[in-house]
Amino acid sequence: MIVIFLGPPGAGKGTQAKRISETRGIPQLSTGDMLRAAIAAKTPIGQKAEEVMARGDLVSDDIVAGIVSDRIDEPDCEKGFLLDGFPRTVPQAEILDRLLEEKNRPVDIVLELQVDQDSLVERLKSRIRDTLASGEEVRPDDNEETFRKRLGVYLEQTAPLIPYYKEKGLVREIDGMASIDEVAAQIDEYLNSLA
Ligand code: ADP
Repeated sequence: MIVIFLGPPGAGKGTQAKRISETRGIPQLSTGDMLRAAIAAKTPIGQKAEEVMARGDLVSDDIVAGIVSDRIDEPDCEKGFLLDGFPRTVPQAEILDRLLEEKNRPVDIVLELQVDQDSLVERLKSRIRDTLASGEEVRPDDNEETFRKRLGVYLEQTAPLIPYYKEKGLVREIDGMASIDEVAAQIDEYLNSLA
């Protein structure tokens, strides 16, 4: 099962992907997490990505596609995987289509988490408060100014993926304003209908 999560920053993609990964036993591939790991490990990719990410821009399609391509060849992806944060541009979606075509493994479903834009900044603020309260470090791109930049990048570069996948009949819309449990239940229903 190959599942793509789509939605603006703060929509809850990571939260839901993590849950589904645990309940279904298939890995969550978060390009944001992979890039942050590369930064922490000071790899050449991490060094290239660090500044771009801190200002809320997108890392180049080639770099991200390279990471994903290597990752989906790992044995734990054999049963399927959940893509969280990739593809993020139409060229990335085209690269993914080519990669999957070579492997004869089509995307099964695209879950679009729909959220009211005004509430996203409020969600970010509460995420920052929670992170600080737990004693963890706040991501360098999790501040209001950079977050608004990321939202703009989403609308401009990522939102066009919705019509791209709609044309393929793959998109299922989800009310991302519902509670975490309700969103998870809706996702489960869609995934069960695939089996
Ligand atoms: P969010 O969805 O909350 O914005 P992510 O962790 O998915 O957070 O992404 C954080 C940053 O990582 C992005 O703003 C971007 O700079 C970089 N990034 C993640 N995935 C991609 C991707 N597929 N293409 C380009 N850049 C990416």
